[in-house]
Parts: sequence; C-alpha cells; structure tokens
Amino acid sequence: MKRVLILGATGSIGTQALDVVARSEGELEVVGLSAGRNADALVALARTHAVGRIALTDPHAAARAAEGWTDGEVLAGTDGLVRLIAESGADLVLNAIVGSAGLGPTVVALSEGMDLALANKESLVVGGELVTALAEATGSTLLPVDSEHSAMHHLLTGEPAGTLERLVITASGGPFRGRTRAELEDVTVEQALAHPTWAMGGKITIDSATLMNKGLEVIEAHHLFGTPYERIDVVVHPQSIVHALVQLCDGSTLAHLGHPDMRVAIGYALHHPDRATLPLEPLDLAKLTQLTFEAPDTTAFPCLELARQAAKEGGTAPCVLNAANEIAVHAFLNGRLPFTGIAQVIEHTLHELGGTPVHSFETLYAADADARERAEERVAVLA
Ligand code: NAD
Ligand code: MG
Repeated sequence: MKRVLILGATGSIGTQALDVVARSEGELEVVGLSAGRNADALVALARTHAVGRIALTDPHAAARAAEGWTDGEVLAGTDGLVRLIAESGADLVLNAIVGSAGLGPTVVALSEGMDLALANKESLVVGGELVTALAEATGSTLLPVDSEHSAMHHLLTGEPAGTLERLVITASGGPFRGRTRAELEDVTVEQALAHPTWAMGGKITIDSATLMNKGLEVIEAHHLFGTPYERIDVVVHPQSIVHALVQLCDGSTLAHLGHPDMRVAIGYALHHPDRATLPLEPLDLAKLTQLTFEAPDTTAFPCLELARQAAKEGGTAPCVLNAANEIAVHAFLNGRLPFTGIAQVIEHTLHELGGTPVHSFETLYAADADARERAEERVAVLA
C-alpha cells in the first residue's frame, strides 16, 4: 500500500485524485488532506475518505473546521500545512495547490525526501532550477500531473539519454481560438471560463484562454526533462486527443493519445511505476474522424511569447511573469481588468522588474512579492 498526502484536495485535481484513490482497491491510502479556505468541503472529504488529519491555510477556516469536526486533527495556517507534510510519513505527496502558494509545500516535501506528484506547475515555473536541484539532492522523484508532461514522461520512459530531439506540447487553443486581438477586447469572464475540452479550476481555465498555460508548460517541460527552450514546440490541437509528442534522433515521432480526462495523468503519477485501472471509454479513432493541428496565434495571444521571453531571460523573470499573471487573472475574474489587460499587466511588470539572479528560495519569495505589488499598480491604471 502506498501512503499518499493530497494538497489542494478540494480543487479540480484534488477531487479527481480522490476518485483515483477510491478506485485503487486498497493500493493507495490517503494520510492527509489540505485546502486553502473551504472548511466544509475539506471536512466532508475527510469524512468520506476516513482521513484523520487535515490542514487549512486560512486560520479562520481551520478554526471553523475544528469546531464542526472532532474525529480528527485540524492544522492551521502555513505552519500547519508544513507540519501536515513533514509529519505525514507519506510515500508520495500530490501537490494540487494553485499558484505560487504551492512552492513552499513543494520545498517541504522535497526537503523531506518524499516523492512528489506535481500538478502545481507554478512551483517549477517560479523555482525550476532550485526545485529540481533539491529533488536531486534528497533523492525525491518528481512526477508531473499535467496531461502533456505526463504524456511526455510516459513516452520518454526507457528512452536512452541523448535520443530526444524535440518535445511537442499540444494546446487546445481555448475558447477564443481563431479570434483576432480586436475580437478579444470585450470577452466576458463567463466566455473565458467556458473551456471547450477540459473542466478545470478557474485560474488554469483563464490561463488556457490566454495561452499563458502553454507558456507555463514550456517552462515546466524545460525543468522536468532538461530540454533547451529552442527544442520545445507548441502546436494547437483543438480536439485535445493527442496530449504531447516526442521526436527522436532516428526520425520517429511518438505521440500519446487519450480522451481529455485528468485522471489518466493523476493515476499515472499516483500509481507509478505501476498502472492505474480507470473506467475510461477506449479511444475509437474512426469515431473521432479527424485530428487537426495548427500553429498558435501569438499576435492575438501574446502570453505564450511573454513566457518564452521570461524563460530566456531566466533568473527571477519566470517568477515575475507568474506572479503578474496570477494578479492579472484574479483581477480579470473579479471584473477589474479586461481580458486583453492580462497580457498588458504581465508585459509591463516584466519590463519594470526584469530578471535578477536567483540565490535562494528567499530571492524568489521577494521577487514574487515585488511583482505582485507592481502588477496590482498596473491593474489599477488599466481598470
Ligand atoms: P482549483 O482552484 O480547482 O483547486 C486549488 C486547490 O488549492 C483547492 O483545494 C484550494 O483550496 C487550494 N488552495 C488555493 N489557494 C491556496 C493557498 N494559498 N494555500 C493553500 N491551498 C490553496 O485548481 P486546479 O484546477 O485543481 O489546479 C491545481 C493545480 O493543478 C494548478 O497549479 C493547475 O495549474 C494544475 N493543473 C490543473 C489541471 C486541471 O485539470 N484542473 C490540469 C493540469 C494542471
Ligand atoms: Mg496541461
């Protein structure tokens, strides 16, 4: 039996992970759950899955949970989350927290030498060099929980070093594929949240609509697989059936196909190196009739290029990019910023702060805080 700790348990990935665990026929055991502030939902999950220890980052939410639930222990605040991880004795931590708030928990799990199933791509975007060095130093295994990266991990398993030529990440194109920049000026939050192929949390759904999600994924792939940026491509594939491709030195290209269902990537990471059994309909290619591919439109969707620029600049630049994006997406979701303002806020913040060398995780936390402040100022100007 593998002991699993699930962070961000109330979210889209977290709840699907609990479904994968429930189907594991006792192979996986949940030893703890965490959430940000949704006390009722977290307590309900703890009850359903018979978990004895939970953590809520919001201290008020933690107090509320402790009042209503006496069958287990509720840990509070960031310190409580650190304790939940460090004292869990877990074999594997699934980090499904959204945003750069996931970096601290990633660092704790890796410092403890625990294997990490990483849905929180922001951990790698913000601190890729330090995070991968830490994993190497403590012997932790990093397993991606992102459909494209899970697919690439799968395709590259057993592949000898030096045979990989290029990675190709597919993008659905989001709900606004085919629109011009001008046609994006007045899109609504509701339209942006209506993703054509994947049902996900709010932040990543907006990132998919701006194509920033692919920018973050290029950086994520670079750190996971050690592939130079110029060898990582993005191709738009609206059906979301091919999740990624790898091109090898002998001219062959391998592709990973499947219905868009995150439980495949989650199951791959949670059961690794074994395989999950999941109730997915087999792929019927004749029924699909067509799979199409096109180049991304970086004029209408500048976020992908902004991410590549920040990646090239290196140092704290990807951290600044990520923080500005989080502020801008939040402002858009709250009706304080137009959709096209998201890229403007990020571009401005990157231009103002640029990238400086990263010496420690503290450098990153400081850059994240600075970028948030600058981005908020820009939101106020554009609002
Ligand atoms: P979500 O918003 O549905 O859930 C986020 C979870 O994190 C919730 O449990 C929430 O309580 C918790 N949380 C939020 N802020 C927190 C904070 N400050 N401190 C501690 N916990 C906090 O998000 P999601 O869609 O499940 O995405 C989670 C991560 O997985 C993101 O990094 C996302 O990019 C990545 N991811 C998601 C999908 C998907 O299909 N949803 C696919 C690929 C990658
Ligand atoms: Mg993805």
